[in-house]
Amino acid sequence: MTEKLKPCPFCGGEAVLISNKEEQLYSVECKNCDCGTCDHLGAEIAVEAWNRRAGE
Ligand SMILES: [Zn+2]
Repeated sequence: MTEKLKPCPFCGGEAVLISNKEEQLYSVECKNCDCGTCDHLGAEIAVEAWNRRAGE
């Protein structure tokens, strides 16, 4: 895991990568509020989607 997760764009909280290994789906969610990305077919894609949103 080399990709860094940016803080939540809404509350500044810590983000965490959620993995569903059975379905090979990954998403990133905020630990503080309930926001997060949709499920993605790869950890890197999920991280990228999150960081793109956080960087706005
Ligand atoms: Zn948040």
